[in-house]
Amino acid sequence: STSVFDVVEMAPDDPILGLNEAFKTDPRKEKVNLSIGVYCTEEGKVPLLKVVEQTEKKLAEAGAPHTYLPISGIPAFTSGVQKLIFGPDSEVVKTKRAATVQSLGGTGALKVGADFLATVLKNPEAVVSAPTWQNHVAIFESAGFKVGSYPYYDKKTGEIDFPAMLECLKGLKKDTVVILHACCHNPTGVDLTQEQWAQVVEVCRDKGLIPFLDIAYQGFGAGLNEDAGSIRQFADSGIPFFVSNSFSKSFSLYGERIGALTVVCKSEEEAKRVNSKLKSVIRANYSNPPAHGAKIVSAVLNDPVLLQQWHEDLKGMRERIKEMRHLLAEALKKEGAKVDFSFIEDQHGMFSFSRLTPEQVQRLKDEFGVYAVKSGRICVASLNKANVAYTAKAIKEVL
Ligand code: PLP
Repeated sequence: STSVFDVVEMAPDDPILGLNEAFKTDPRKEKVNLSIGVYCTEEGKVPLLKVVEQTEKKLAEAGAPHTYLPISGIPAFTSGVQKLIFGPDSEVVKTKRAATVQSLGGTGALKVGADFLATVLKNPEAVVSAPTWQNHVAIFESAGFKVGSYPYYDKKTGEIDFPAMLECLKGLKKDTVVILHACCHNPTGVDLTQEQWAQVVEVCRDKGLIPFLDIAYQGFGAGLNEDAGSIRQFADSGIPFFVSNSFSKSFSLYGERIGALTVVCKSEEEAKRVNSKLKSVIRANYSNPPAHGAKIVSAVLNDPVLLQQWHEDLKGMRERIKEMRHLLAEALKKEGAKVDFSFIEDQHGMFSFSRLTPEQVQRLKDEFGVYAVKSGRICVASLNKANVAYTAKAIKEVL
């Protein structure tokens, strides 16, 4: 008999989640999972931040009922987000010209932003960095965008091909959405300098492009304020732009799906209209957002003591990642690797483009149980003192 689903073809597996499954069932004793984008502690565990644990205890003691949240989320959460991304004394915050809505992680923020933009633009087009986090493409395509790319990472030098990037941006049609990684570029770990950001801002303004800054790792690069430098330059420029931010990594709240979308407008009046439209988009998608993660984050962002404690927690994660970068580069040098890996220490965030070829990545997995993404991306935040030497030895062997 025939079924209505006969036409349904098997969708491709997510390559990274597939690697994670393979890792779990790998019987080898010595194995290292550098494929997944999750921060792990020195003990190899996803942390429960102290500040989160404390806040959850207080929430449990309060015993509040599970009511619906407003469509745009908890007001103390969205106002806290604005101060975090723009800085507490920001003109954007003071003049109330930004509309912020709570979202289902950074992914949800991108999706609501893309859906909203699709209602505004006639022929929606977007560009992403080459390479980028693959979901950027999927999300904007699913919202009806034609998605292209701009040059970013130069495989030959391991650095950004900035002249090519700028040239490409200069040639884009007005109102093209330009998706930018505000800091800690995924997958390469290579970021623009503040001087380069200034030039990107200028091109976006001159050409009437719509910047969409994705910040999923605020605090993992140089610090909370430093990592938001790009966002603040766009805020100073006065042009409209979007910010999707995620607390998945910075609060280690992956499964709570907590983030926000912010649209910076020209006036408070415009921001009010945009906010009402964002709410319609949310309403027709999932009605209103989940509460638990937002309660935790808003409690922390609005309490000076908890905020300070979060800064310390973040600093601990950031510095551990830096130490792992250093130890991996050192260990590779000690192994006598024929390639200079010191570039790993110059990269930012959880990821590093190792510059290993797909064949080398395959051998790492087959011969050593070291799992990396085919592109050569490794998650430095999964390294620890117990596995870094083994990882370096394995890398040296496959070079
Ligand atoms: N944007 C980038 C660049 C990411 O790397 C990620 C997560 O991997 C996200 C957005 C989405 O994060 P979330 O889990 O909060 O949806």
